[in-house]
Amino acid sequence: MPLGRQPSSRPTSRPVNINNTPLPPRIFNIPQPIQNPHHEIKEEETSSHNFNNENPLPNNPNNSQATTPTMTPITRKTMRNRAPREIIEYAEGDIDLTHLNDPTNGLLRDHAPPPQANYATIEEAQISLRNWARTHGVVYTIFKTWWRPHETGRRPYRLTYGCNRGRKRSARGNSIRKSTSGARCECPMKFQLRAEDITDPANSRWIVEHLDNRASVVHNHPPEKDPYQHVTYRKEQLTPEVSSVLLEEYAKGGAVGALKRLKERFGDIRLKPKDVYNHWEQHQRTRKEREAEGETVVDEGLAADEGEQFWW
Ligand SMILES: [Zn+2]
Repeated sequence: MPLGRQPSSRPTSRPVNINNTPLPPRIFNIPQPIQNPHHEIKEEETSSHNFNNENPLPNNPNNSQATTPTMTPITRKTMRNRAPREIIEYAEGDIDLTHLNDPTNGLLRDHAPPPQANYATIEEAQISLRNWARTHGVVYTIFKTWWRPHETGRRPYRLTYGCNRGRKRSARGNSIRKSTSGARCECPMKFQLRAEDITDPANSRWIVEHLDNRASVVHNHPPEKDPYQHVTYRKEQLTPEVSSVLLEEYAKGGAVGALKRLKERFGDIRLKPKDVYNHWEQHQRTRKEREAEGETVVDEGLAADEGEQFWW
């Protein structure tokens, strides 16, 4: 069956990752988007178009239930400025997960690519992509953005995403992080997210598309079995409630003491002491900056994420 074109029916079971090992329990099912006062994502908005529970790969045991009813056929009627491109579809057997977990870094092997699907908004697409990546032990990050002018500035109409282990190792910093989950290893995996109508991205549907030459399938490293090895996903646990307890307890017992208290209070907290410290440190910095500007500081909320998502 071609990817993304399966008959519609909704899976009934909780998703498993492609190793068929149960995912570690999560205390939050909906990823926490970057806090942005200009755009609040409502839970019902995100849940009705959540493609996280589907794995359309041919060799997935749940394949017969691969596609959600909300996944509509990709159309290019409204595309302008550029010639239509064939949608890449994989036939059965085209994606081979045999070597997925081979520990050899540098070995090219297939991962499950994010489903090619279209979404009502860029936010829905990004939440779905993040869910997919988390479930599959990787992190997707924005490599390049195409902008178009807009009355209120500029708006993205197309984004190239890649694996966060892509790009070259930087000269400093990453060179000492040899095999940690975030270490760059020039992973070649890429895909794109684009507005169906590039002339009006804010009101357009958004499409996840694979790139040619299996570029959206092949990585050169295994997935992380525990998604919480990725700081991106650990930071999702920093909800305002967790943050507020963290800051309070940090003042009493430092990072280790605060972490202990957070685990007692919230159960499955996967933050590391360095995350606790970083969050507290960020809070202090923000506070000083705001005080220097003469603002009254009430609550700092979340630490800034790493700029992986757009919110209008
Ligand atoms: Zn990769």
